[in-house]
Amino acid sequence: MSKVCPECQHVFQGNGWDGIDAHWRAKHDHIMPYEEAWPLIRAETYAGRSASNGRWYLELFDKGASKAKRVWTEPTWSAVIPHVRSIKQSTTEKLRIMAPAAATDQELFELEQFGVERRFP
Ligand SMILES: [Zn+2]
Repeated sequence: MSKVCPECQHVFQGNGWDGIDAHWRAKHDHIMPYEEAWPLIRAETYAGRSASNGRWYLELFDKGASKAKRVWTEPTWSAVIPHVRSIKQSTTEKLRIMAPAAATDQELFELEQFGVERRFP
């Protein structure tokens, strides 16, 4: 059976996961570095955006870094708020939140009041 990328549903032709390394580094390394993602993908426990619809993802940019690191995945906006508060107070890192498509206008409004950048998956 063909292997399917848990982030974008790309189907790997040929032998198992051949090509996942190059594919991941080119397309999804900003979500999670390949070295971290691979053991999860291989074990089929990687909770990708598309694999776990409706979740919120929080990503941190280290100061000056071009790549984000995913730090939390939460099922609801109310679970996201405490993370946002603590990050805002304790670091100068830039926070980005991937809001699920099901996010409400009110939730997105609140997000912006925190000064957080939001993106949809
Ligand atoms: Zn992919």
